[in-house]
Amino acid sequence: MSEQTGVWDVIVLGGGAAGLVAAFHARQAGASVLVVNKGLVGRSGATITSGGGVSVAGESLRAIGLDADASDTEERFLSDTISAGSWLNDQHLVQSMVSGIGTELSRLVDWGIKFTVNKRAPGHSSGRGVHISGVDMQRALTRIAVQAGSQLSRGFSIQPVAEKRQ
Ligand SMILES: Cc1cc2nc3c(=O)[nH]c(=O)nc-3n(C[C@H](O)[C@H](O)[C@H](O)COP(=O)(O)OP(=O)(O)OC[C@H]3O[C@@H](n4cnc5c(N)ncnc54)[C@H](O)[C@@H]3O)c2cc1C
Repeated sequence: MSEQTGVWDVIVLGGGAAGLVAAFHARQAGASVLVVNKGLVGRSGATITSGGGVSVAGESLRAIGLDADASDTEERFLSDTISAGSWLNDQHLVQSMVSGIGTELSRLVDWGIKFTVNKRAPGHSSGRGVHISGVDMQRALTRIAVQAGSQLSRGFSIQPVAEKRQ
């Protein structure tokens, strides 16, 4: 285990996509940030192994300058997702994904992450499948978190500090 001492405003647990984006935003807000990871940041976790397939409404793709189905809307994407999920989905979460994914994708483009827009995937009434390599995403996010001034710590496994309530 590596040793590191200091005082930080924010300690982020986990250096995958979620942790690195959180670290970036905390730095943007002026906090000092340490990202703690049990493996090597940029080489462990689910993000680096992922296929990186996400769906984005044609409307959102076009808003960031990409060629996409002009008839496809966020509303249609929402309806497809809820229907393909047999109405079991948490509709607030689906709405959040449908309306927020375009902004997130735009941010990834600004960070230099390459992706391709694929054909129509099962359950979708339009070609809104976007593919981003997990390796590219993990590397780019590690770079932006470090460039923003986050410190990375590896070989440190966090143990649960709170008991789950029954
Ligand atoms: C094979 C595969 C394919 C996938 N394909 C897709 C896809 O096509 N589309 C899609 O949207 N999603 C996909 N996913 C899911 C997606 O990759 C994950 O939901 C996402 O990457 C999770 O990001 P994360 O930052 O939360 O976790 P991770 O990337 O796993 O990062 C968590 C980090 O925390 C560290 N860590 C864990 N526990 C501790 C601890 N106790 N102490 C310290 N550090 C710890 C880990 O080492 C890791 O680096 C796929 C996942 C896999 C495995």
